[in-house]
Amino acid sequence: MDNLIQGAILAVEDLNIRYGNIQAVRGVSFSVHPGEIFGLLGPNGAGKTSTLSAIEGLLKPESGKIRVSGYDIREKPLHARANIGVQLQSTSFQPELHVGEIIRLYAGIYNVSMSNEQIGEVLASINLADSSTKKFGQLSGGQQQRVSLAIALIHTPRLVLLDEPTSGLDPQSRRKLWERMEKLREKGRGIILTTHSMEEAESVCDRIAIIDQGKIIVTGIPQEIIDNNRNNAEVIRASRKGKITLEDVFIGLTGDAVRA
Ligand code: ATP
Repeated sequence: MDNLIQGAILAVEDLNIRYGNIQAVRGVSFSVHPGEIFGLLGPNGAGKTSTLSAIEGLLKPESGKIRVSGYDIREKPLHARANIGVQLQSTSFQPELHVGEIIRLYAGIYNVSMSNEQIGEVLASINLADSSTKKFGQLSGGQQQRVSLAIALIHTPRLVLLDEPTSGLDPQSRRKLWERMEKLREKGRGIILTTHSMEEAESVCDRIAIIDQGKIIVTGIPQEIIDNNRNNAEVIRASRKGKITLEDVFIGLTGDAVRA
């Protein structure tokens, strides 16, 4: 077992995912450790969501191994999933239900008993203390995303999956979410984050992997990836002033063509 897999909350080894003729993920391997925010970056159609779906156990890969907290997702799916929290899309929730009811409902699904006081504490933690009796559908998009994150954390999972959690958020809400992620990191959780914002990846991720056409092309600490790929970024920078950013390197490595 190599050092990076030992002690990992998530270990993905040689993952392959196919939809009919489309090979969406090709031999992807990476690991996420306690207290780490790991960013999975890639252009549209690169295979990020497919990878997350396989980790969640929603999609059966063609081959490869996924272990969550040491549990193989295929051999011990219930144990593995008990250690995963997923931020669902807001469309997954009943808009007519009150926010407090939704939290109680999901607590029940995860077999966590919560008093009214504890539900109040959860709502206070996401700055929605007065919204318990509001209908979910009456919340703004950003408020709905906060509820969704709180639900993902109800069963105190060791691994948290966030699929583009800040898309559509205003700068204030985005910063707040970054703070929440950093608090989770301090508590020793592992976070896997997909984002199209290179600024976000540079700001919050401890390590990132850049995936393109189903393959990881580079993994590492954002600044090290920038430093090691300055040459790739030079071409892109021709039209831009300022220091070399992760976005320059990302486009340098994955090309500037917009994906079909
Ligand atoms: P985005 O940034 O656009 O969300 P992504 O990196 O999450 O992209 P995936 O959604 O994993 O990419 O898609 C990877 C590839 O698999 C794409 O070519 C996509 O068209 C294909 N694909 C995804 N889901 C399915 C499906 N259910 N059936 C067939 N092909 C699919």
